[in-house]
Amino acid sequence: NDGKRQFKRVLLKLSGEALREPGSHDNISPPIVESIAEQIKAAHQEGLEIALVVGGGNFWRGVSASNRGMERATADYMGMLATVMNSLAVQSMLEAMDVPTRVQSAIKMDNVAEPFIRRKATRHLELGRVVIFAAGTGNPFFSTDTTAALRASEVSADVVLKATKVDGIYDSDPNKNPDAVRYDKITYMEAITRRLQVMDSTAFSLCQENNTPIVVFSMNEPGNIYRALTGEPIGTIVTN
Ligand code: UDP
Repeated sequence: NDGKRQFKRVLLKLSGEALREPGSHDNISPPIVESIAEQIKAAHQEGLEIALVVGGGNFWRGVSASNRGMERATADYMGMLATVMNSLAVQSMLEAMDVPTRVQSAIKMDNVAEPFIRRKATRHLELGRVVIFAAGTGNPFFSTDTTAALRASEVSADVVLKATKVDGIYDSDPNKNPDAVRYDKITYMEAITRRLQVMDSTAFSLCQENNTPIVVFSMNEPGNIYRALTGEPIGTIVTN
């Protein structure tokens, strides 16, 4: 199978920053969301079941606000609300391309999204709807990476695909160390003990516990979201 990974159901994690045009003041760039949606649509047309978790860092991050004097829990709830805006943006672009979607929010918001109900989410996926999990886990002190790991386990996704700014996991920060070496694959244990900062340790351990592989790949390369979704061996894969 030409080295391709075989996925039937995936969970794609997009950071909030992925929706912003670099250097722009607009938190969300519709053309960028459109190009992401096009790639999701292409993979969806091949029969892949796709769940999404979108971050909120393009609007707000709980930790940074709390470092500057705001109460952490409140700042985190604001961050979760930011992920709802991003989720609606992605939903709207997908629906405009005739891809059926549902947004499920971990914080009840009946006018804009369904509540998160695991069995319904699974059903939507079976029926070919792209399910977008909004509002993180619904709990402060967690991240959307952890949300991705949690929801992937809940809907039995084959993999967590984490789209980021770097093309995989390195043994040190490639932005600071020109000799940094990229791994093709690495174990959860190594990723956690070596404190490789691509994902938080809660997310890694949750995936480890449930044996969900993680693929970390760069979304700066045009077309890479489609490649990752359809199992091309890009980025770094984290397994046991
Ligand atoms: N957040 C939270 N609980 C969750 C998920 C997210 O409190 O389960 C908050 C947290 O403040 C976080 C913000 O939402 O900083 C945005 O999410 P994240 O930083 O993970 O987004 P990303 O970096 O992926 O854009």
